[in-house]
Amino acid sequence: MKSPIKTYRQMRLFGNLLNIFFPSKCPICGNRSDSYLHNPICASCWKEIKRYSGPACKICGMPTVSAHTATCELCLKEGPPFSKVLYYGIYEGTLKEAIHLLKFNGVKSLSKPLGLMLSELQIPNADGIVPVPLNHKNLKQREFNQTASISRHLSKELKIPLMLNVLKKTKDTLPQTDVTGKERLKNVKNAFKVSSMVEGLNLLLVDDVITTGATIRECAKVLMNAGAESVNVVALARSMPRQNT
Ligand SMILES: [Zn+2]
Ligand SMILES: [Zn+2]
Repeated sequence: MKSPIKTYRQMRLFGNLLNIFFPSKCPICGNRSDSYLHNPICASCWKEIKRYSGPACKICGMPTVSAHTATCELCLKEGPPFSKVLYYGIYEGTLKEAIHLLKFNGVKSLSKPLGLMLSELQIPNADGIVPVPLNHKNLKQREFNQTASISRHLSKELKIPLMLNVLKKTKDTLPQTDVTGKERLKNVKNAFKVSSMVEGLNLLLVDDVITTGATIRECAKVLMNAGAESVNVVALARSMPRQNT
């Protein structure tokens, strides 16, 4: 077994190495990066990441304007395929920057602190963690699935098995940020299939950012249709509804 000191030293060394390859300035405040764990984001900017505690739909977590609205319109209209959606914060500020650095700038080391951040949520017990898959095209371009990488850390922390190949993408969709409103539902419709046994399993579906929720609804739907007992969704961030229009 590794001693914690050795691991700490290794992480520090790794952090210093990262500092050589990536700008040692914090991309948010411009001060020197002073953290090995969430390099290049500095400690004081990292602390700005806050858990969302405002009013939200009790099922899908959609932030609502009124504290009196317990369930959002969409969840009332059609019962969602998932039991509950948990997410850490609103997709803005440092959290947005951290996800961007991981997703588009290849700062893979951020998947660990982000994965650990997810483990702070009140996550219900599950038989397996299923990351939302990427397009083949995106996977090739970015060479790795950031959601799978975050899920790996969450799986280790919670000791819940990671089920990497359960969900497969069957068609390449446009990024959800490139399409609007109703088109988002159409964009992801029939885009996923279940490729292994999930019958009777309680699953945790992991995504990085939830926009309208069309992707997680579609993924949860195919998992439930394949016989899953329940699907709970866990994400790092959720965009505010007004950003979706
Ligand atoms: Zn900073
Ligand atoms: Zn809802």
